[in-house]
Amino acid sequence: MFNKILIANRGEIACRVIRTAHLLGIRCVAIYSEADAKAMHVAMADEAVCVGPAASKDSYLKMDTILEVAKQTGAQAIHPGYGFLSENATFVQKCQDAGVVFIGPPAPAIVAMGSKSAAKRIMEDAGVPLVPGYHGEDQDPAVLRKHSDAMGYPVLLKATAGGGGKGMRVVWSADEFTSALEAAKREAMNGFGDDTMLVEKYLTKPRHVEIQVFCDQHGNSVYLAERDCSVQRRHQKVVEEAPAPGMSPELRKAMGEAAVRAAEAIGYEGAGTVEFLLDEDGSFYFMEMNTRLQVEHPVTELITGQDLVEWQLKVASGQPLPISQDEVQINGHAVEVRIYAEDPENDFLPATGKLEYLRTPEENRFVRVDTGVREGDEVSIYYDPMIAKLIVWDENRDRAMQRMSQALTEYRIAGMKTNTHFLKRLIDNSAFRAAELDTGFIEKHEAELFSNQGGSHGANPLALAALYTLLKQAQERAVEAERSRDTTSPWHLFTGWRMNETPHLPIRFKVGEEEKTVQVNWIEQGYRLEIDGHILIANGKLNDDRLQASLNGHSRNAFVAELNGHVTLFTDQGAFECQWLRPDLDSHDFEEEGGSLTAPMNGSIVAVLVEAGQQVKKGTALVIMEAMKMEHTITAASDGTVTEVFYRAGDLVAGGADLLAFEAAEA
Ligand code: ADP
Repeated sequence: MFNKILIANRGEIACRVIRTAHLLGIRCVAIYSEADAKAMHVAMADEAVCVGPAASKDSYLKMDTILEVAKQTGAQAIHPGYGFLSENATFVQKCQDAGVVFIGPPAPAIVAMGSKSAAKRIMEDAGVPLVPGYHGEDQDPAVLRKHSDAMGYPVLLKATAGGGGKGMRVVWSADEFTSALEAAKREAMNGFGDDTMLVEKYLTKPRHVEIQVFCDQHGNSVYLAERDCSVQRRHQKVVEEAPAPGMSPELRKAMGEAAVRAAEAIGYEGAGTVEFLLDEDGSFYFMEMNTRLQVEHPVTELITGQDLVEWQLKVASGQPLPISQDEVQINGHAVEVRIYAEDPENDFLPATGKLEYLRTPEENRFVRVDTGVREGDEVSIYYDPMIAKLIVWDENRDRAMQRMSQALTEYRIAGMKTNTHFLKRLIDNSAFRAAELDTGFIEKHEAELFSNQGGSHGANPLALAALYTLLKQAQERAVEAERSRDTTSPWHLFTGWRMNETPHLPIRFKVGEEEKTVQVNWIEQGYRLEIDGHILIANGKLNDDRLQASLNGHSRNAFVAELNGHVTLFTDQGAFECQWLRPDLDSHDFEEEGGSLTAPMNGSIVAVLVEAGQQVKKGTALVIMEAMKMEHTITAASDGTVTEVFYRAGDLVAGGADLLAFEAAEA
């Protein structure tokens, strides 16, 4: 076994690998970019070396620099994590040439699976079932079109070098073909530097079921059951669970054996995942093989009781697989959700910012948190916006989902938009609980899964927010009184006291787009709150972020994070956000943007689709931006005229910058 390894990655996966390595007594060398000097993986490692500036291509992707660090520090092996260099055959070769073990498959296996189209040809020969499609070399758009027409729509265009759902477009009818092909090619070229495409029949109600395989250097292979990753947004996984609901032992065996055949066909070593589409009738088709450890590997660990990183380290150091196929056991049910900095209500637009407030559920044998960030860390534009993976286990699916629902309410983040609220709705959704899964789940249940903030919450959250502001102000006054050493002055009391009137005060909030006023009267029992004509009697205690509240005699606990008047209230119903319009704070955040269209976040301009002077209809695509390697289209919010264009394709823009000047047409 190695005694020192280098981890060529960052974030949660780097931390995850370090954890197991340390359990095995292996020392760890971290690498980091200038932006990550204070990152968690750097703090956890035994040694850490800066390999360059923030942009991945200048740091985490610098193969020679990384190998140099391995040599200098005496690391015998490199764990690539996922992403970055994990599926880069050139890097594997360079490691081998430098005499450093790459913890992963041999280079030829990566090459074989690196192209989705070449992989399909190999699988066809190995007798693994494939989705009907065209994966040939002739890339003439007319040829791709001809095959699509012949197959019949819908078809799916996929970048052969693609991954993570990028460079992929569903084409519903022949007349969409050309624009979809262009968009997919553009995204593929930007993301992978290769815009070769394949086309396949688009299955309309498949499940994504993948098999974890493991092979050692002695010719042994096993499959460690399956994961269902059907719940996806933009073809990216959101929830993963194991085992797949409704999986029969026969189907598991058939899929598992097909997966092992796939791995053996390419001389595989280490951890790999063979992804299949499972159709409604139980037929399954090979999609691709990921030649690395997957993001979602923890669900497999929790149902099999194995540590897959430990297996990777053992296999890479030449040891045989720890157990054989007969010894693989499945116990209970595990589910993982990916917590992202993103805005589900706004097409899952990635978010960036500082994790001003971060509280995670307590970890125990049921709950596991894999993360690479702590409170105060930045989620930057440079890397993937995943904040954490939350994984839970229990005896069966129902109980696991119940636990997940609870754990999500205990995952409290403020300071940036996240998907925790959306995930909770998803986990609580009745169709999801009934395991009515397919890859279109989110689209199908859109109406229930997405909420517009405000309104639906009713009066209670606002009452809690009001109570919070009252207790907070009382605390602030008490501190002032303490400081002034005049603790008895009536000016330091916070009672809403007014000459010749019953003590009262209005508190103003902004909830979504709506302004709300809570009228407060000080009474003997605490506060009498009037919200939209409802009366609530409130009192309570505030201890740091913990609000112990009583509303009309019903006590409950909540947690509150406040940043510049932006109040996030975490209750067992989920998070509730509002802006406290303190009379002493200015609320310019809520000014309307006027007649301009702004960049939703830092990124670059892919295409400007309009010219100054052009009249457009509401919904017309104006500008395409790329941020976090995804394309975002900025559309006209109303009919009107573009009066000025401020950027050109290729320009970098900061979030919030005006992209265009726009004059809305008179209604
Ligand atoms: P990536 O490598 O970008 O993740 P995949 O080939 O693994 O791309 O596909 C990602 C997801 O896209 C799948 O999980 C599935 O939901 C969907 N998908 C892929 N191929 C098809 C298909 N032929 N029909 C329907 N859905 C598909």
